[in-house]
Amino acid sequence: AAKSAGAGERRFFDEAMNAQASARLAREAELRRAIAGGELRLYLQPKIDSTSGEMRSAEALVRWQHPERGLLLPGEFIPLAEETGQITELTAWVLDEVCALATRCKRAGLREQPIAVNVAASCFMADGLVERLDQLVRSHHMSPQALVLEVTESMLMKDLDRAVERLQELHAHGFKLSLDDFGTGYSSLAYLKRFPIDELKIDRSFVIDVDHGEKESALVEAIVTLAHRLNMQVVAEGVETPSQAAALQRLGCHLHQGYLYARPMPAQAYEALLATRPVLEAAAPH
Ligand code: C2E
Ligand code: MG
Ligand code: MG
Ligand code: MG
Repeated sequence: AAKSAGAGERRFFDEAMNAQASARLAREAELRRAIAGGELRLYLQPKIDSTSGEMRSAEALVRWQHPERGLLLPGEFIPLAEETGQITELTAWVLDEVCALATRCKRAGLREQPIAVNVAASCFMADGLVERLDQLVRSHHMSPQALVLEVTESMLMKDLDRAVERLQELHAHGFKLSLDDFGTGYSSLAYLKRFPIDELKIDRSFVIDVDHGEKESALVEAIVTLAHRLNMQVVAEGVETPSQAAALQRLGCHLHQGYLYARPMPAQAYEALLATRPVLEAAAPH
């Protein structure tokens, strides 16, 4: 009896694993169809100069318009894309869309603003990345400075020496670099000086309570001072309230991104916004 129970148990697990594996295969195929079949959507969220309310640049944030499940956020499909290697095609799609958008803006006589693209670890380290990016901007008659690549600390720390080399290569070719989610990785400040980074993004977790106390604001102030001393721009991520915005300004952080100013929006809405040169938030009182 013990033997057959063992066998039954094993069969149960085999079936469960098969079911899991085939569900995963189905999701993988679905994502492949999404990327090749036009179900991805380019969204953009402005980065704002909070002292004037003017839009300075934007970040590309991908969405998936799923035929049954509606508009999906990256959290629901980027991890799968990374695991399956489809992140390569997905990133290529985002980069193409961003360049197409920049070209449309230029033709329409709109201000040219840099657009940031999030780059996953595997894409960042992939062979030939710099050559492909060169080729891409050249084919769109774009300046490499129009493209910002957002990378994370934890990504860079995996293989620091190669990462620094890659950053230097990108920097030498004129691409702009942004350090995303700053403060959440196991950052070693010593390495910061080795990164030819143009912009540092303070993670939302610091912004959430920047207006709540001495310690919270001390941390943000230290990051802002450090970044400025290293000649980097600082962007606060996830600014949601006027009180957070005012606290950030007091601490010397004037570039903001967050729902307070604008949510991520479809490319068309972003183009319309560029055309009207809006003030996205009245300058906070000093
Ligand atoms: P991230 O690069 O740190 O992007 C910031 C996230 O914060 C975005 O979430 C944005 O919508 C959200 N956000 C902006 N302002 C606020 C705010 O005021 N409050 C709150 N609560 N959230 C705010 P989203 O679009 O869901 O993207 C999540 C993450 O997915 C991104 O984090 C990025 O790591 C990744 N991702 C997005 N698009 C791409 C892409 O095209 N390629 C890759 N590899 N990753 C991407
Ligand atoms: Mg980002
Ligand atoms: Mg971020
Ligand atoms: Mg973040």
